[in-house]
Amino acid sequence: MLVTLILSMFSVLLWLAGRYEASQVQTRLDRDASDATSDIRAALTRNAQTLQALQFAAADAPPWRQQASVVLRDHRELMRLEWRDSQLKTIQSVDTPYRAPVFKNFDRGVLQPEVAQACSIAKRQSSPAYSNSSYIPQSDGMGLEIMDVCLPVINDGQVTGYTLASYALNEILINQISPALLRSREISFTEADGTRLAVNGMQHRGSRLFTGVQLLDLPGHTMVLRVDSWRAAPDVFPNVLTALVMAMAMALVTVLIMLARDMRRRQQVELDLADALAFRKAMEDSLVTGLRARDNQGMITYVNPAFCEMVGFESKELLGHSMPAPYWPPEMIDEYGKRQALRLAGNLSSREGMESVFMRKNGERFAVLIFEAPLINAAGAQTGWMSAILDISEQRRVEEMSRASQERLQATARLATVGEMASLLSHELNQPLAAISSYATGSLNLLQDLGLHDKHLAQSLSSAIERIAQQAERAGKVIKSVHDFVRRRDQARESVSPKTLLDNVMPLVSLQARKLGVRVEVQCPADLPQVLCDRTMVEQVLLNLARNGMQAMNEDTPRKVLTLAVRRAASNATSRWLEFSVTDVGSGIDAQIAEKLFTPFFTTKSEGMGLGLSLCRTVVEQHGGLLSHTAHTPRGTVFSFTLPQS
Ligand code: ADP
Repeated sequence: MLVTLILSMFSVLLWLAGRYEASQVQTRLDRDASDATSDIRAALTRNAQTLQALQFAAADAPPWRQQASVVLRDHRELMRLEWRDSQLKTIQSVDTPYRAPVFKNFDRGVLQPEVAQACSIAKRQSSPAYSNSSYIPQSDGMGLEIMDVCLPVINDGQVTGYTLASYALNEILINQISPALLRSREISFTEADGTRLAVNGMQHRGSRLFTGVQLLDLPGHTMVLRVDSWRAAPDVFPNVLTALVMAMAMALVTVLIMLARDMRRRQQVELDLADALAFRKAMEDSLVTGLRARDNQGMITYVNPAFCEMVGFESKELLGHSMPAPYWPPEMIDEYGKRQALRLAGNLSSREGMESVFMRKNGERFAVLIFEAPLINAAGAQTGWMSAILDISEQRRVEEMSRASQERLQATARLATVGEMASLLSHELNQPLAAISSYATGSLNLLQDLGLHDKHLAQSLSSAIERIAQQAERAGKVIKSVHDFVRRRDQARESVSPKTLLDNVMPLVSLQARKLGVRVEVQCPADLPQVLCDRTMVEQVLLNLARNGMQAMNEDTPRKVLTLAVRRAASNATSRWLEFSVTDVGSGIDAQIAEKLFTPFFTTKSEGMGLGLSLCRTVVEQHGGLLSHTAHTPRGTVFSFTLPQS
C-alpha cells in the first residue's frame, strides 16, 4: 500500500511539474505575442509619421518621387507609395527598389473599393486608416498579402489628396519583429477565422504545439497575430527540483522494498527460531532426566518438567530460589552448602556423576545421581552450572530387592541343607526309635511274664514303659512328618477334634511349664467341630507357639500365664474355620523384630535356631490357614492360626 501511495504521489508530482512547465511556456509565448503586437503597432505608427512627413515637404525640398524612393529604401516592408488626389486618382507612384513592382501583373483598380473604404475612414478620422489585406499574385509564382494604408493630405482643413502605402504583411513580420522573438517560433498573421495571411519563422521542431494569439487592431482593419512554438515532448523530469524529488522518492521506494525484504527475512528467521525453540522445548519436556541450571551465585535459573516432577515442586517455586534449595533435606543443608561453595570455587570435578540425596515436597528422601557441567555463554564466559539429575531411587530399590532375594536364596539353600539333614536324621533315627519301641514292647512282655508281686511297682513300670513306647512312636511320627514335609509329599490329612490336638500337646507343654513356673490355661468349648489337618504337624505348631510364649515370659513377668484357646474364626456360627490362639503375657514383640519374625534363621535367643515360626507358618499355610500375631493387652503377644473345619 505504501509503495502504491508513493507511486501515485510520484505520478501526480510528475503531472503537476509537467503542467507547470507547460504553463510557463504558454505564459512566455503570450507575453512574446503581446510584445510582437506592440512592436508592429509602434512600427506602423512610426511609418505613418514618416509618410505624413512626405506630404508636408517644404517648398525647397526634393520632389515627392525622390523622397518616396528614400522612404521605400529605408522601409523594406513598404512595397509601393502612391500619391492620390482627393478623387483617389493616382498622381504619382513609386515601387520598392528591392523587388519587381508588386502590381505589375495585377490591375490596381481591382483593389479600388478597399482603397476607397480605407481613405474614407482616413478622411473621416483625419488619421491613417488601413484597408483589408489582399492576395496579390507575383511573377515568381508566389504571392504577397498586401495591406494598404491611407493617409489624408490636409491643407487648411481640406483633404487635398491621399498618400497610399502598400505593406507586404510577411515583410512586416520579417522586419518589425525582433529576431530574438522569432527564435524557435513561427509568427503569422491570420484572419479572425484562422486563415493564414503571412508566415515567418522556424520550421517545426517538436511534437507539441503552444500557441499565443494577440489581436492587432488597426484603424479600418483588424488582424490576428499568432505565435506558434513547437516544443519537443516535455521531459519526464522538467527541472532539477523535480528530478531531485523523484530521485529521493525512488530512493525511498528502494529503501521500502529493501525494508520489506529485510522484514520478510526477519520473519522467516523468527519462524525458524520459533521452530527450533519448539523442537528444543519438546525435547526438554520429553526428557526423563531432570535438568537444572544455576547461576554463579547458586540461584536456580532454569528447571525442566522432569526435574519438577522428580522433586514435586512447581517450576515457579524453584526459579529464582537461592541456596539452600527447597529440595535439600534439612539435615543435609550444611553438607550441601559446603559442597556448593566448593563447586562455585571451581574445586569440584564436574564431569563425574555425584550421588546425593534430595527431598520431595512431601518430605520423602530419594537418591539422585548428578552430572554438572559449566554453562558457557556466547562470549565464552561462565554464567553458571547446568546439572543433569537422575532419580536412582528405583535403581536402589531394585538393588535392595536383588540383595534381599540373594539372601533369601542363601537361606533357602541353607534350608535345603537343613532339609537334607533332617531327612538323613529321620532316616537314621527311625531305626533307634523302632528299636526303642520294640524294646519297650519286649520289656512290657517281660514284665508281664515276670509276674511281679508288687502290683504297684508293676503298674508304674508298665505305665512308664508304655509311655516310652508311645513317645518313641510319637517321635517316629514326627520324624516321618518332617521327612514327608521335606520331601514335599502330601501330608496325611485327618479329621481331628480340637480338644484331641490340645490334649496331645498338653503333657509336653505342662512339662516345660512346670520347669519355667508358668500356669497353663486351656479354653476349648465342647461343641466345636472337628478340623481337617496333618495332626502331628499341627501339634508341632501348637508346641512351638506354646514354647515361644513361655520363653517370652522371663523372671520379671509377674503372673506367668499361657492361654491355649480354640474358637470359631468368625463371629457367626456357620464359619468353616476354627481359630487356635496361644496367648502369653511376656515381653511382647518390637516393631523391628516383628518385621523379621517369620524369616528363617531369625532368632533373638542364644540357643535358638530361628526356624520355629517360619516352619509354623509354612505348615499353617499348607493347610490353607493363616498364622498371625497381635499384641496382647496389657502385655504379651497373641499368636493365632486358622484351620479348616472337616
Ligand atoms: P526360636 O524360637 O528358635 O528363636 P522362632 O522362629 O520360633 O525361633 O522365633 C523367632 C524369634 O521370635 C524368637 O527368637 C523371639 O525373639 C521371637 N518370638 C517368638 N515368639 C514370641 C513371643 N510369644 N513373644 C515374644 N517374642 C517372640
